[in-house]
Amino acid sequence: MNQVDTEWMRQQCQKSGVAVMDTLDDSTIAVVNSCAVTSRAETDVARWVKKAVAKNKSVIVTGCLTKECAVRLKESFGVSSFLFGGARGKIAYAVRQVASGKSVELADDTDMKAPGISFMSGKTRGFLKIEEGCTHRCSYCIIPALRGRKIVSRPIDMVVDDVKTLLYNGYKEIVISGTDIGAYGKDLGYSLYELLRRLILIEGDFRIRISSIGVIDLNDNLISLMENEKICRHLHISLQSGSDKILSLMRRPYNTAFYGKKIEAVVNRVPDIAIGTDVIVGFPGEDEDEFKKTAGFVSDMPFVYLHPFSYSPRIGAESYCWQYEKSAQKRRIKVLKAIVKKKNLIYRRQFLGRQVKVLAENEKQGRTSYYFPVSLPHGLKRGFFYDVLIHNVDYDNTQADIV
Ligand code: SF4
Repeated sequence: MNQVDTEWMRQQCQKSGVAVMDTLDDSTIAVVNSCAVTSRAETDVARWVKKAVAKNKSVIVTGCLTKECAVRLKESFGVSSFLFGGARGKIAYAVRQVASGKSVELADDTDMKAPGISFMSGKTRGFLKIEEGCTHRCSYCIIPALRGRKIVSRPIDMVVDDVKTLLYNGYKEIVISGTDIGAYGKDLGYSLYELLRRLILIEGDFRIRISSIGVIDLNDNLISLMENEKICRHLHISLQSGSDKILSLMRRPYNTAFYGKKIEAVVNRVPDIAIGTDVIVGFPGEDEDEFKKTAGFVSDMPFVYLHPFSYSPRIGAESYCWQYEKSAQKRRIKVLKAIVKKKNLIYRRQFLGRQVKVLAENEKQGRTSYYFPVSLPHGLKRGFFYDVLIHNVDYDNTQADIV
């Protein structure tokens, strides 16, 4: 989501007459868009700030950095301008303030009602942030504290206009994202389903991809929409653990039985849909027995890919002081990856001999609605749709010819 925010800020600056440079050397002010989701991300922010300060640039730090991180950046590098969370909506104002020698420190949610993104430079797909904030309380997560504990949705008419603008600018796939996208519209009296219903009525040859959705938000209406050809047949539904004990410690709002039933409902309705997930390994309380439950559950689910993460405590999260087992994390990640690698191959094999539509990402590769990439021998035109016939599938590749 930070990529969307960065591009959006770039456009806000350009629209208000601020010259946006591509290199640090050509700039007088550096805007570092931070991510505090992992401690590694925070280290990266410090590295970029250090680099900019070393080149005598004024620095504005935006994004989901913690107040503690801001204090560290102030002390270590003398940074004095910060736009916390949605205050990134005031980026152009902040740049002007800093250019005139003043510092700014703002925290609000102005960005969701500002003009949207009309293109994403360097991307085949257009990204739209439709919602900010999360009302859940996962014990390992600091995102609600950084991006807001209430849902702030972009009004439905504005999202429809954003999509039309992206389509007008040539994008054929629009990815809608947010902190808790399933909660979209709850603050404004409508739902993600209603938004998607509006979007698929827009004329043209395009598709909408839902970036990630919580399993508790998957209702029958949304599931039925997955059959529509304008909605990508792909859902990313975070699992995090296949142990009910760990899910409860994580304060995830579901158990494995609920999760399994929802996935079954999705697959019954759309049998060839691609379902991906995230799993955290080594969470406090996860011993070998609990991990085996996760490995077993992952084996039982029709996942076609899995992003495994090693648990790391984040300052400010409820689980920060809880004991956890770090030594087993790498091995557990390997186990999960091996399980899903086989599932991925079996999944893609069902497409052998089938005709599908791909969006060209470069001269030789396109991406299906089902999210897996396809290699093609011909010179494709980036950003265009092609109908292709899949003729070979192996562990590392799916090959096709243009029909
Ligand atoms: S659902 Fe949980 S993990 Fe996701 S942003 Fe909200 S609190 Fe964090």
